[in-house]
Amino acid sequence: MKISIIGLGSVGSAVATAVKNTGLAREIVLFDRDGIRARAAAEDLGHASAFSYDVKITAVNNYRAIRGSEIVIIAAGANQKPGETRTDLLNKNAAVINDIVPRVMANVDAKKIKLIIVTNPLDVMVMLAQKISKLPAARVIGTGTMLDSARLRAILSRQLSVSTQSIDAYVLGEHGDSSMINWSSACIGAVALNDFCRQTKISLPATTRRTIEHRVHNAAYEIIQGRGATWDGIAAAVADLVRCIINDEHKILTVSVVDGAGDKALAMSLPRIVGENGVIATLNPKMDAAESTALRRSGKIIRKNFDSIA
Ligand code: NAD
Repeated sequence: MKISIIGLGSVGSAVATAVKNTGLAREIVLFDRDGIRARAAAEDLGHASAFSYDVKITAVNNYRAIRGSEIVIIAAGANQKPGETRTDLLNKNAAVINDIVPRVMANVDAKKIKLIIVTNPLDVMVMLAQKISKLPAARVIGTGTMLDSARLRAILSRQLSVSTQSIDAYVLGEHGDSSMINWSSACIGAVALNDFCRQTKISLPATTRRTIEHRVHNAAYEIIQGRGATWDGIAAAVADLVRCIINDEHKILTVSVVDGAGDKALAMSLPRIVGENGVIATLNPKMDAAESTALRRSGKIIRKNFDSIA
């Protein structure tokens, strides 16, 4: 399969490596408005191929070269500087999506293409990319809260001394400061979280849950403070999504796609079944009243931000 990546900064480069390491791409095409950067990334990654899979990796300086791609990953645009929120990037990155999506659409098969959106603020960029591309909503997929859910599972794994693989717990809503943890549906193995805590005599009171939520919300800020940007977690999330699409895995992932139309259109993360044609179905997990309110609030924030640029 041919996969194109637009934007080869910290995230795009890490995504290229992670996607190459799935072994599922026959060809990876790299485009960045900074052509020197894209060429350097292709060169470096090409050398890495000698130690893993033989993948044809090319840097290109025009969009014609992405023809034949079945997946295009958009990781271009401004990232958060220390102290900035994702929403602070709204206008800058709306301009980037407005620049990229029409060029992509002019060179891909609209009947087949899946767009994966990584650029922040994620949910609004998904809405914008879907509106510009006019693709079915199921094929304009934002990584959403896949990363936030992974961060939650990592924290819970340490707190509960259980492998992340056995933790089924999701962050929903905005990939941003208003995201919420769906505690009511969290399961450890086949056991509901509250039952698990009772059986193992582990205490997870409301104060601890609030601290965990705070840590999930703050994870990106802390990484940006220490490293300048975040890239490993999101690259692994994109590779997981790409694998799920190529292998038609029907995995449940908290991705962001547009639901509804017109004034009611809204992209946010919910548990969704993903396969070769993108999102197949959306699930509505159990929620208590406070969680439902938090999710609605998150949706309103996304929609308000979208309306401010539309
Ligand atoms: P970066 O500054 O390192 O790289 C951005 C790249 O985009 C640069 O190489 C730049 O030349 C390129 N670019 C900008 N405008 C372009 C255009 N119009 N056409 C082609 N290329 C263009 O930034 P980064 O750290 O790689 O972050 C990229 C984006 O990913 C940011 O918006 C960031 O917030 C987002 N991000 C999302 C998640 C997530 O979970 N969805 C996680 C981390 C970062």
